[in-house]
Amino acid sequence: MSLTSDIKEFALDLGYSRVGITTADSFSEYAAIMQSRGAMYEFLVQDPAVWLEVSEPKKLMPSAKSIISLVWDYSQKAFPEGLLGKVGRLYLSRSYNAPPHRINGSRYQLMLDFVKKAGCQVGQGIFLPERWAAARAGVTTYGRNNFAYAAGIGSFIVLSSIVVDAELEYDTPTVEVGCPEGCTACIKACPTQAIYEPQKLNPRRCITLNTLFTQDGMPAGLSSHISPEIREKMGTWVHGCDVCQEVCPRNRERLQAKLPDDEFLVMASRDFSLTKMLNMTDEFYETRAQPLMYNYIKERKYFQRNAAIALGNLGDPAFIPDLEQAMNDPEKLVREYAAWALGRIGGKLAKQVLETKRNLETSENVQKEIEAALLAV
Ligand code: SF4
Ligand code: SF4
Repeated sequence: MSLTSDIKEFALDLGYSRVGITTADSFSEYAAIMQSRGAMYEFLVQDPAVWLEVSEPKKLMPSAKSIISLVWDYSQKAFPEGLLGKVGRLYLSRSYNAPPHRINGSRYQLMLDFVKKAGCQVGQGIFLPERWAAARAGVTTYGRNNFAYAAGIGSFIVLSSIVVDAELEYDTPTVEVGCPEGCTACIKACPTQAIYEPQKLNPRRCITLNTLFTQDGMPAGLSSHISPEIREKMGTWVHGCDVCQEVCPRNRERLQAKLPDDEFLVMASRDFSLTKMLNMTDEFYETRAQPLMYNYIKERKYFQRNAAIALGNLGDPAFIPDLEQAMNDPEKLVREYAAWALGRIGGKLAKQVLETKRNLETSENVQKEIEAALLAV
């Protein structure tokens, strides 16, 4: 057996669904496209270190020859109804950039160990444009919604890669769109019109970015602020968004399949609610929010903000007492978005709460949100 087939066999034995190999050549086309999209992708392009890493693997590892692209199918088990529509399946699966002490991280670690033991030098900390690498390695094609699709699985997959110094046997690239002709279901279904043309996404309008990247201290004008226009379109999503994958015919088979339960998620969904997320206890943060949503949000106030938006969008006056409680939260960000949510729910009771809180509020930003909310009720 060759080194290439040894690597592929080991990866399949670990449970990866597909393994492909491509060269470590640059992703110059990817870099050019991102740069051509101006302000939309500034938050990525602005950081030269990140930019170098994603598009030029050989600049970080001059001896790099090959990229091993791995596909993990994260929809082999069912996702509980209570979590769907709130947290994206990718995050529920705990398989995206999982730390080494958790099962999905340890699988990747085992793969790294195998490749090293086989005599390869491995690139450290090289984050590639995974969808481009996977298409070049022949394991996925593109969707018009920008997701990568593996044949026979769909887009509910996580891609990871390993850059090595060994010259391996390269697979035939599948750098192409694999969608049925004329299908635009994802473009039509996107709640914020973030997909403005096939394969063109404005990330600043995407719900996923708005739930995760809108934190203070982010680059390129991103902050904790989410525009009211986007808030209204976020529905009940608090971490990610799956809409453009849920409507996709390339995912239909998997979405309709009867899958076994994921007992961890069944347990988590019993304790999960938007109101618990809004007025989050330490225990909820540690046992429910962090184990599922460990990738991006590092401060609980952002989970709380997202929960407030979701409750506002539900429009149910039954949530007014929870939002009233959130108006006492020590974080002004939480109070701002609770005020917005009260305005969105509207009605006499919401108005009373807002008027009472207006008289007690000390933060100018929260006062502004209260005034705007009072105009809406
Ligand atoms: S993830 Fe949601 S908001 Fe983003 S493009 Fe898809 S449907 Fe639109
Ligand atoms: S919804 Fe249609 S156009 Fe969009 S990714 Fe799926 S198959 Fe392609």
